[in-house]
Amino acid sequence: MKLIKFGSPGSEKTGVILENGKTIDVSTFTPDYNEAFFESNGLSRLSQWLKNNAASAPEVPPGIRLGSPIGRPSKIICIGLNYSDHAKESGMAVPAEPIIFFKSTTAITGPNDELLIPQGSKKTDWEVELAVVIGKTARSIKEEHALEHVGGYMLHNDYSEREWQLERGGQWVKGKSADTFAPFGPWLTTPDELPDPHNLRLWLSVNGVMKQDGNSRNLIFRIPHLVSYLSHFMTLLPGDVISTGTPAGVGLGFTPPQYLVAGDVVELGIDGLGTQRQTASALTLA
Ligand code: ZN
Repeated sequence: MKLIKFGSPGSEKTGVILENGKTIDVSTFTPDYNEAFFESNGLSRLSQWLKNNAASAPEVPPGIRLGSPIGRPSKIICIGLNYSDHAKESGMAVPAEPIIFFKSTTAITGPNDELLIPQGSKKTDWEVELAVVIGKTARSIKEEHALEHVGGYMLHNDYSEREWQLERGGQWVKGKSADTFAPFGPWLTTPDELPDPHNLRLWLSVNGVMKQDGNSRNLIFRIPHLVSYLSHFMTLLPGDVISTGTPAGVGLGFTPPQYLVAGDVVELGIDGLGTQRQTASALTLA
């Protein structure tokens, strides 16, 4: 299944893109795709419901705004330097264990919403990433059972303010958490439709010029290891997001570095997970 949310920010409704391409409103079945939905076996209940109700459900109006496919999760955990070519361009060593950091959940936005460059930012950068959504609570689980806890996959642009992340001391979370710094979607794809998450092309362009062009086969730490590893430090709740890291080609890696300015258009995609498009604008507070 492919799950979407559509409508105005803050009042999105749930939808499903069917295999025949038809997109239907399923808000009478569930108001959101969130922790309560996933933990109550929502994915399989929805799949059953579709068998009887898909034909009569209202269609989603074409061209309507898409929001994040999932409701606000308890946490977004990101993996740093998980592609060796990106570690190299960042001037950092390939890590011996996964580098983990948090990203604020208030950064979440729709896949094609505007990117707001925060006030005072000079180094806003892009990162195309494969994001994993937890489907079932994971607590100290073994690697061989990890994929049973995955509810789906999404495209994510892990926007990063490099000065705040790297030059201001303390933790990376400062540079990762501004509003609009976590576009998710356009949809969540369930694992049955993405049998091999470790062979997906990921790409990103700025103003039509390709910047990142990688493949998830080059992940240093793969998804089962990441889910198991994290579950030994914290409980992963249904709906939680693990963003698995970015390949080479971020702005920081160019000589001289390239950062986003108002008017820039960022486009990105992952095989099977759709595409996003954000136009940058400068945030000015009234
Ligand atoms: Zn990242």
